[in-house]
Amino acid sequence: MKRRIAAMVLAVSMMGTLGACGEPAGRTAGPALSQSSSETQTDSEKVRGTLKVSTSGESGKPVFTVETNMPDETEFVLTLQSEDYTQQQTVVVAGGSGRSEAFTSGGGPLFSGKYTLTVAMSQPSQQPEGVRAVLGDNGENLIGNFMKVESTSGAHILSGDFKFTFDGPEAPAADPAPEPEPAQPDEPRESDPEPEPEPEPEAKPETKPSGTTKPSTTAPTKPSSGGGGGSGGGNGNANNFDTWNVESQQDTQDSWVLNTSSLKIHYPSCSQVPKIAPKNYATSNKTESELLNDGYTTCGVCHK
Ligand SMILES: [Zn+2]
Repeated sequence: MKRRIAAMVLAVSMMGTLGACGEPAGRTAGPALSQSSSETQTDSEKVRGTLKVSTSGESGKPVFTVETNMPDETEFVLTLQSEDYTQQQTVVVAGGSGRSEAFTSGGGPLFSGKYTLTVAMSQPSQQPEGVRAVLGDNGENLIGNFMKVESTSGAHILSGDFKFTFDGPEAPAADPAPEPEPAQPDEPRESDPEPEPEPEPEAKPETKPSGTTKPSTTAPTKPSSGGGGGSGGGNGNANNFDTWNVESQQDTQDSWVLNTSSLKIHYPSCSQVPKIAPKNYATSNKTESELLNDGYTTCGVCHK
């Protein structure tokens, strides 16, 4: 499935590259990018990765072009999200850029609002051989501001967040199938102070996060709006982010803590982790890329 999308996007991005004017190939003047010249590049084998994103396309249906000095065939995953929208596409670099297809809302324009596009390179181990030859099998040649080290694998990848505001139709006032809107300031805006932890643990039913709360993370499930499975025993606020302070939830050997409601990826030590309602708490040893592919996004607090 992913492969099919990648192939599709590759075709599109190649067309896009042909169609785009004023994109001289010589522009990607990064070091050591031509695969045949490795022996003449011994002192500059590090690659300072660049990322730049521009939009085009119809109003409300943005097409993103990623400009980068990564080698041809490098695969990036583009995740566009806002409060109630998440969509991913895979883009393959050809000639210094890769172009997505239009991001839409069920085929129509996106609703007005602020969106964040996360551009993240797939793991080096999943990249074609020619890419690994330049970047290193674990991406170890990659440096620069956009380079991120994955905590689980130690792999170096290129990743960046880009903010956009789109003018489209207003979101409908009455959603026919509204999600329960738990107040979950999981990703506070840039300068917001962290929500204060509640000092009274005995006021809450503490459920121990061992064993039973470790669901499979292959298919992130949204909370069924009816509830019924709440661990709080009739606690109407079981979803309420601010009512929990279960510090033991930080206590896991697994790589990640997940909020299965907000679909956020946290480091176990993140200050937000105790505030996850136990019914939405899970842990995972998957790689960040795998979780992103599952529909999760990284927490803004612990993934600065
Ligand atoms: Zn976090």
